[in-house]
Amino acid sequence: MKHKFSHYLCSVCGAEYGPEEVTYTCPADGGNLSVILDYAAINAWYTAQKFMDLPEASLWRYLSLLPVADPGGIGTPLRRAGWTPVYQTTRLAEKLGLKSLWIKDESPNPTASFKDRASAIVVARAAEIGAEVTVAASTGNAGSALAGMAAAVGAKAVIFAPRTAPPAKIAQLIIFGAKVLLVDGNYDQAFDLSIEATHAFGWYNRNTGFNPFTTEGKKTAGFEIWEQVIRRMPAESKPLTVFIPVGDGNIISGVHKGFKDLQALGWLEKMPRIIGVQSTRSAAVANAFWRGDEDIQPVHAETLADSICVDLPRDGLRAVRAATETGGTYLTVPDEDILGAIVELGRVGIFAEPAASTAYAGLVKAVEEKIIEPDDPVLVLNTGSGLKDVNAAMQVVAAAPIIEPTLDALKKELG
Ligand SMILES: *Cc1c(COP(=O)(O)O)cnc(C)c1O
Ligand SMILES: [Zn+2]
Repeated sequence: MKHKFSHYLCSVCGAEYGPEEVTYTCPADGGNLSVILDYAAINAWYTAQKFMDLPEASLWRYLSLLPVADPGGIGTPLRRAGWTPVYQTTRLAEKLGLKSLWIKDESPNPTASFKDRASAIVVARAAEIGAEVTVAASTGNAGSALAGMAAAVGAKAVIFAPRTAPPAKIAQLIIFGAKVLLVDGNYDQAFDLSIEATHAFGWYNRNTGFNPFTTEGKKTAGFEIWEQVIRRMPAESKPLTVFIPVGDGNIISGVHKGFKDLQALGWLEKMPRIIGVQSTRSAAVANAFWRGDEDIQPVHAETLADSICVDLPRDGLRAVRAATETGGTYLTVPDEDILGAIVELGRVGIFAEPAASTAYAGLVKAVEEKIIEPDDPVLVLNTGSGLKDVNAAMQVVAAAPIIEPTLDALKKELG
C-alpha cells in the first residue's frame, strides 16, 4: 500500500517508525506518535497560493497535506467537516479592551463539535486500511463525531461513553446507528475498556491520544486559522494568540501540529502563541506545565465541563509542548467562570457547551492578569455547540416567566 506520509515520530523517545510498522502508540514507551509528512515532496509541487485557492468548503480542501487518500463520500456529512466560520466579535473585543478578537465557531460541524475533524480523518483511514469496525471511547463528542461520520459513509462504529454523558450526546450516538455501550464508570475507565476490546475483537480504535490520525484531523483547524486570519493580518502585527480548551490535550496538539506543518513548508512566518485553558477541577496538563515538567500526573477530575473532564490526559505531553514551544501558557478557570462565559458568548449569538466556553473564560482571565495586551490579536476556539448540554446552560440563566395567554397578563409581567 502506498502511504501519503513519510513516517511516525514518537513524542517521548524520538524513535521513527515506517507507515506499516505501527498502528497506535510507540511500542517502546507508549508515547503518542506524530505523523510526519514528506514536506520536500509537497513543496516541490504545491504552493501556499494553491492552498488558498481550493474550492472545497470543508477540511478536505487540505487533502494534499493530509496523510489519507480521498475517502469519497461526496455529498455526505463526511465531506462537510471543518471549514468553520470565524466571527469578528467587536462588542466582546470592546468589552475586553482588545483591538482584534476572532471566535472560530466549531458548532456548525455536522455533529456540532470540533471532534468531526478527527473522526472524518479516522473514518478515511479505516477505509484505507480495510478496517470493518471502528471503536472509540468518548465523553460524548468524539463518539458522536465518529458515529456520525461513519454513518455518513455506511461504516460501522462502536462507542463507549460514561453513563453520565449529557443526554443530547447519547441521543446522537444512538440516532447515528452506532453500537453504544454506556459504561458505569468515568471516561478514563471507558477508555481502558475500549482498548481491551480493540485487542480482543480486532477493531480499529479511534481513541484520542492513542490513534495518531486524530491529530491529523485536528490540525486542519490550524490551517484554517492561518488561511482565514493569519494571512490577512498586517505584516507588522504581533503574532496571533490562540485560546484552546484542554481535556486530553489532543485539540491543542492538533492545532499546534497544523502550525508546525505550515512552518515546515515555509508558509507560516510567525508561530502563533498557544494558550491552553483547563477547569481548575480538571487541570492535569496545566499542573504539569506549571511544574515545568512533562510528566503528566493524574487528577481526580470533576468539572461540569464534561468534554474536558479527564483524570489522565492521553495527549498531555504534546499539549504541554504546544504552550512551551510557542511562548504560550496554561490557565485554569473555575466552573462558575465557565458557565459565565456561556452567557457572554450567548450575547453575541454564539451558543457554547461548557468545555467550549472554557477557552473564552481563559481569555477573560488572561486580560485581567495582563497576559494579553490590548494590541494582541486573539482568536478563541469555540469547540462545541451549547445544544450538546442544555442543562448546563440553564443553570446560569433565570427561568423565563410563564404567563396566561392574554395581553393583561403580558402587561402585568412587563410591569
Ligand atoms: C474534546 C473536547 C475538548 C477538549 O479536547 P481535548 O483534545 O480532549 O483536549 C474541548 N471542547 C469540546 C467541546 C470537546 O468536545
Ligand atoms: Zn517512544
